[in-house]
Amino acid sequence: MKSQKKILVTQPVLPPLEEFIPLLEDIWESKWLTNNGKYHQEFEKQLADFLGVKYISLFSNGTLALISALQELRITGEVITTPYSFVATTHALWWNGIKPVFVDIEPKHCNLDPEKIEAAITPKTTAIVPVHVYGNPCNVEATQKIADKYGLKVIYDAAHAFGVEKSGNSVLNYGDISVLSFHATKVFNTIEGGAVICHDEETKKRIDYLKNFGFAGETKVIAPGINAKMNELQAAYGLLQLKTFDEQITKRKIIADTYRELLTNVEGISFLKDIDGVKHNYAYFPIFVDEKKYGMSRDKLYEKLKEHNIFGRRYFYPLISNFSTYQGLESARFSNLPVANKIADEVICLPIYPELEIENIKMIVDLIKF
Ligand SMILES: *Cc1c(COP(=O)(O)O)cnc(C)c1O
Repeated sequence: MKSQKKILVTQPVLPPLEEFIPLLEDIWESKWLTNNGKYHQEFEKQLADFLGVKYISLFSNGTLALISALQELRITGEVITTPYSFVATTHALWWNGIKPVFVDIEPKHCNLDPEKIEAAITPKTTAIVPVHVYGNPCNVEATQKIADKYGLKVIYDAAHAFGVEKSGNSVLNYGDISVLSFHATKVFNTIEGGAVICHDEETKKRIDYLKNFGFAGETKVIAPGINAKMNELQAAYGLLQLKTFDEQITKRKIIADTYRELLTNVEGISFLKDIDGVKHNYAYFPIFVDEKKYGMSRDKLYEKLKEHNIFGRRYFYPLISNFSTYQGLESARFSNLPVANKIADEVICLPIYPELEIENIKMIVDLIKF
């Protein structure tokens, strides 16, 4: 059974073109294309309401948002982070001249393991940068406790966690700053884009300066800022995306539930379950292949699916710590990261997106079963 067309790990949702055109006409008319225009302002406002956060600053992408968040908090020295993420998490540290210190993950949700953080703290440590991997919230309480004890900042890479809530509260409200990505492959997209979420007006103001070269007025530059502004076309597009987000998550949940139902009792294949009290966004559907029990390696299954036009992705393999740029770091050695290395060798993220048909899910599961 081979799919007629290629099924990729994700497929972006676009707003209806007929709703976008009038907004484009309005922008054409105004000739205001970027630099905190009216759509930018409106999108920031609606987004903050939608997500249940106080202050949000839009960015051109998630990587620059993370780099700027670290700048804003003046993070230096060493920062504790996870190797089990997209490479931009560590790159953002590197661009700030910060030494990444990798700490292993916990096997249940693949997030930074708070129990292993303390052992990695040195006099040079200034912050912790965890990732809510697959949108599953980190153990935010335990992480904050350690941060408070040692006087460290916490910056969450929340690129996967758009719309995720814990006990009715946005997961973006934890830590000092959280960062989102609106890249085309993410659960909420503005083609490219991102945001910084913070908890006070002063921080928001400084972040707004930082993304615009450090300008705090026409003739005043207060910091060596960067250019990371979101433009009006993307902000207008984002406003339309908000209207259908809840409906998209409902569709994603049905897909995740279908996968779970069909994959139950498949020997050697495991997957993540929903967490009590958490509102999930079903951004990804990772499965973990236990080669011995399943009788086939992860890579063999991955290739088999590809031969049948099913293009899952091995998020996150290789680990960031195993890329040549970072593998020389002491904390990158295998013996320091046994759980992350094991999971990176077992994972495949299966296709999940609102328009994925149930027939296709059945076909994918049949390929995994037989
Ligand atoms: C996508 C992603 C980023 C980078 O975001 P961009 O908007 O593509 O720059 C950073 N961290 C994680 C975990 C991501 O998945």
